[in-house]
Amino acid sequence: MARLYLDANATTPPHPAAVAAVQGAMAEAWGNPTSTHREGQRARFLLEEARRELAESLGVAPGELVCCASATEALHLLLRGLQPALGDRPAAVFPGEHSACLNPLRDWSRVAWLPVVPEACATVVQMAANNETGIRYPMPVVLDAVRIQDCAQAWGKVPVDLTGCDAAVFSGHKVGGPRGSALLWLRPGLPWEPVLEGPQERRRRGGTEDLPAILGLAAAVRHLPERLAQNAALASLRDAFEAELLGWNRDLEVIGHDQARLPNTSCVLVRGRSGEALQAALDLAGFAVSTGSACHSGSVKPSHAIMTLGYSIEDARSVLRFSMLPDTQPADLEALAVALKRLT
Ligand code: PLP
Repeated sequence: MARLYLDANATTPPHPAAVAAVQGAMAEAWGNPTSTHREGQRARFLLEEARRELAESLGVAPGELVCCASATEALHLLLRGLQPALGDRPAAVFPGEHSACLNPLRDWSRVAWLPVVPEACATVVQMAANNETGIRYPMPVVLDAVRIQDCAQAWGKVPVDLTGCDAAVFSGHKVGGPRGSALLWLRPGLPWEPVLEGPQERRRRGGTEDLPAILGLAAAVRHLPERLAQNAALASLRDAFEAELLGWNRDLEVIGHDQARLPNTSCVLVRGRSGEALQAALDLAGFAVSTGSACHSGSVKPSHAIMTLGYSIEDARSVLRFSMLPDTQPADLEALAVALKRLT
């Protein structure tokens, strides 16, 4: 039987257009965009064209985007770059944030957990959607604070709205772009200092630009409208899958069932069972699924994102995450349900 990949929140296969763009750029657009000769100028032109397209897709100005290698890097540049000006004031942070966001916050003098917003709060950090549960979150309205949104999971799955934010990050490999492509958006005028010094990216991220990755991302983003439509259509497949599971009369719960969620994500608590053991058994049966965030798999550490919702450590260890690619078919989820029923 062909394998079924149901771990899109960890990463996605690159779109064929992204593969072609990366290959083309590696063969032909290998010039350094900082060089002033013709090869360099051509690379610069392609880079700025890609930035313009990416910015247009996000509804921001091209000069506000910094091309990075990962959302992890973008979050580090963002939070470390704000820290010198703002880090002696408290940050209000959503407790289910990804570790890529929580780690650079260690430099801040004080972190309060949303919904608590401390006095003189300098920044509010709220992911648009959680990687493990798929639950979507609005940006809290806090005056005079830098509002940061991690859009790594929401991008390409649901429309992203930056109107209530001042900075945001986007991960390319979650939307059919190549690994090594990501974006940091900074509203002009933020009290932000570069962390990686160098002349590139308008002095905001030093290091020769990875033109193949950036062109690959732009190629993938050209297909974002159809990706969004395909992802939206997954909600009914997911609902049917969850209804089937909940009808089995087993101790199963769909986390975030009654909340606004990403259409491709189903986070299932199989009470009393080891999520890791079930994941391994499903893998043997031909299904690639996750027990939680990919960054946690391989370690037995239970998911903090699940525990912040009030679940026990045992429950957090009993979670399976199914996250569909845009082209997932009803028969795929039916086959998954059959395999899961046999194992539970
Ligand atoms: N933020 C969230 C919500 C994520 O889910 C991830 C990756 O899973 C990241 C950030 C990090 O993204 P990247 O793999 O591009 O570093």
